This record gives sequence, C-alpha cells and structure tokens, in this order.
Amino acid sequence: MSYDTKTGSFERMKSLNQSTVLNMIRLREPISRAEIAKLTKLTPPTVSSLVSELIEKNLITEEQSISSKAGGRKPILLRINYTAHYIIGVYAAAEVIRVILTTMDGKIVFDFSEDITELPSKNEFVIMVIECIQHVLNNTPIKKELILGIGFAMHGLVDPDKGLAIFSPHLHLENIPIKDSLEKEFDIPVIVENDVRALAKAESWFGQGQGVSDFISLSVGRGIGSGIYINNEIYKSSFNTAGEIGHTILDVNGPKCQCGNNGCLEAYASESAILNRVRAEVKNHSDSILHEWLKDGKDELDLKMVFKAAREDDFFAKLVLEEAGQSLGLAAANMINILKPAKLIVEGSIFEAGDFVLAPLKKSIEKYTFKSSNEDISVVCSNLGKTGMVLGAVTLVLQKMFKTDEI
Ligand SMILES: [Zn+2]
Repeated sequence: MSYDTKTGSFERMKSLNQSTVLNMIRLREPISRAEIAKLTKLTPPTVSSLVSELIEKNLITEEQSISSKAGGRKPILLRINYTAHYIIGVYAAAEVIRVILTTMDGKIVFDFSEDITELPSKNEFVIMVIECIQHVLNNTPIKKELILGIGFAMHGLVDPDKGLAIFSPHLHLENIPIKDSLEKEFDIPVIVENDVRALAKAESWFGQGQGVSDFISLSVGRGIGSGIYINNEIYKSSFNTAGEIGHTILDVNGPKCQCGNNGCLEAYASESAILNRVRAEVKNHSDSILHEWLKDGKDELDLKMVFKAAREDDFFAKLVLEEAGQSLGLAAANMINILKPAKLIVEGSIFEAGDFVLAPLKKSIEKYTFKSSNEDISVVCSNLGKTGMVLGAVTLVLQKMFKTDEI
C-alpha cells in the first residue's frame, strides 16, 4: 500500500478485521460485541478477541448499557475513544495556509492560519508549511506520538499517490514534494490530495454527503471545481484531474477564461468573474447603489457589497448574481445528465447570497436536467462552512484509519 507509516502507531493497529470492527463501532456506536458479530459476520470469539486488542490500544471504550433486553443481562456497549489519537489537517489555499489539529471525530483542538502575502519559491512554500505545522505542535500539549497522520489539501493539480503538488496555478509552482518533505521533517505519515476532492471526502464523512453513495460537491471560489463521489469512492481518473467543471464550456463565444479557452463556467461564475463583471459594467448602471458605493474609488469592491446591494433590491447586483447562478446551474445540469448523482452539494462564499444565486441555480438544473425516470436529485448547501477544505485534509487520514478494504 502507498501509506507508509513512520511512527508505526497507526499501522501496528491495523489488520483487516480490526478495521472492520473499528469501523462498525464508529458507524453504530454504542454497540455490543454480539451486534458487531451479527453485522460483520465475524464469529463472536473473533470479535471478542479483536475488541480486547482495540481496548488495549485505547482505541475503544466500554460502557454499561442502561437498558436490558427482556430481563436479561445489561450488555456492555462499545464506543470509539476519539481522543486516543489526533490528526493534523493542512489546507493550502491561494492566499492562506491553515492548519488544524483535531480529535478522531474531527473536533478542532487547535486552529492556526498564516497568510501567503507574496508568491513564495517552492522551497519557501515548504518551509512556510513546516513552520505552520510546527507552530501547532509547539502550542498544544498533545504528544507527537499520538498524531496519526497529516492530511494535506492543496489547490491545483495534485498526484495523491506520489504526494506531489504537480501544479499550483495561484502560486505558480510546480512539482512540490509535499509528502516527502513533511514526512522527513516530522516523521508522521502524510497524505496529499487536491482541495476540492478533499472537500468531497469531508462532505462524505462529516457533511451533507453522509450516507450518500453518489454525489457531486461543487466548490465555487477563485476557481470552480467539483469532487465526484461514485459508489462511495471519490473519482479521480488515472490523470488525477477529474471534476474540472469550471472549464466546461457554456458558450464558445463567451468571455476569455484563464485557461485560454472562451466561455468556461469559471469565466462566468467564479468570485473573480463576478467581481470583474461588476467593475466592468457598473459605469453603465448609474442607478445602481454599487455605482454610488464605488464612485471615485472610495470603496473597494468585494462579494459582500454585491450581496448587500442585492438585499437592498438593487437591480444590477441581483442580475449579476442571478446570471452567475444560472451559469452554475447549467454546467451542473450537464454534469448531472452524465452522472445522475443523488445529491449536489454546493460550497463557497457566493452561496452566502442565498436565493439570489441558489434559486436561479436550482431553476437551471430543473430546466436542463433530462429526467428519464422519477429522479429526485437534491441540491443543498454545504454545512461545513469555511472549515470544509481543511476538514477534508483531516478526512484523508480518517479514511485510511477506518478503511476496511485496504491494508
Ligand atoms: Zn477555462
């Protein structure tokens, strides 16, 4: 397997059956040994012996059930001991590095962010990440030996197998050896993944994707990307580049996208596309509040101003948000027609605008999705907020920890 363990605490714990039992407890806790045996089809003696090993490793705890079945003995129930180990999650965005330390159920123990104020060299970037992680380690009483792994969510093109950031469009960097550098520095296993795919994993583990085998997580920020979950697995393709919904074309004669093509979704509905459009067209809308606010450069335009103007019933602001929502809905409908996921989970600051964006998005999906049967595809907002990506980094480690089909 590709998950090399340096500290050993994680790998020594793992056997296929142990992971199966551990995962069953996670999903059904509190649960008795007998129920585990029934659900996993392992024999009761096998379950008992695996449970004893897990208790010895402090990974699970026992508690007395308060109810008993038909006057019988009260069964002993088992729970995961979520503070037995900790996880570090790192999210490297375009302008900030965020590091969190969490328990095994994703509760944040320490949260630290550092802005990337100028474009770093490859070496400077790696040093900055190391310093951020070191800062977290220095400021928590948690022993390093208790840290299961470091999950790393990186924007741009990522090769998870090699732990490499192949290309960062925002930092203009190539081939950053994240896994190797961090494992060498900290002697803790590191898993690297693209940020949008990590977010989809967080949705599956903690968010709106829980219990949903097929869903798309659509993320709108400086760029637009998607994480595709199929049969409970993230879909990456053999090139690690699947999900680039931001570069699906809505109009070949449309505005120029930074990728070089014309009319990509990103050129219509990314945060920068929306702000650029307002800046370019506001002069033609002298009746708009935005025209007044931006006059003589007295205020610098941001998304919140556009939302505020829309809430004040400003026609131009509402139009810009509506058309961004329509574009997102159109691109999402194309993707839905191919994959037919049960759910579309949308994430990003733009959705703070609420129905100014969501209503036209849903309307476009309704209009352009081909329904061959009675398909009910729900469209929901992520409830992970700004923690989604970094929690996705944590999920990379959790999924390895609890995974049952790979040892
Ligand atoms: Zn493009």
